[in-house]
Amino acid sequence: MADAGAERERRIGKNEALFRDVNERMQGLNETFASFTRKMEIVCECAEMSCVERISIPVDQYETLRADPTMFAVVPGHEVPDVEEVVERRDSYDVIRKFAGVPARIARETDPRT
Ligand SMILES: [Zn+2]
Repeated sequence: MADAGAERERRIGKNEALFRDVNERMQGLNETFASFTRKMEIVCECAEMSCVERISIPVDQYETLRADPTMFAVVPGHEVPDVEEVVERRDSYDVIRKFAGVPARIARETDPRT
């Protein structure tokens, strides 16, 4: 059972890392637009592969979030309580932080900024 749990944690971690990659690429496309609005559109970074919900996030908040590889932005309620916790609630999204151990390690290993 322990193996199944670790496998699930890995899968959840990889899904979230994938959405973070997508958002990092979109940030480039968003930059011109963002310089006017100071906001950018990202996709929800939750573990659900089929989730394509959008989040409107101020650019400076996105940068703060990305400075910590274990933090992700999700639509409120999209967190997975056994691998991550909500550390901040914003107007349009929640900030989650991966728990120490496997979830945080995967988040660091897959960080596109390191
Ligand atoms: Zn989601």
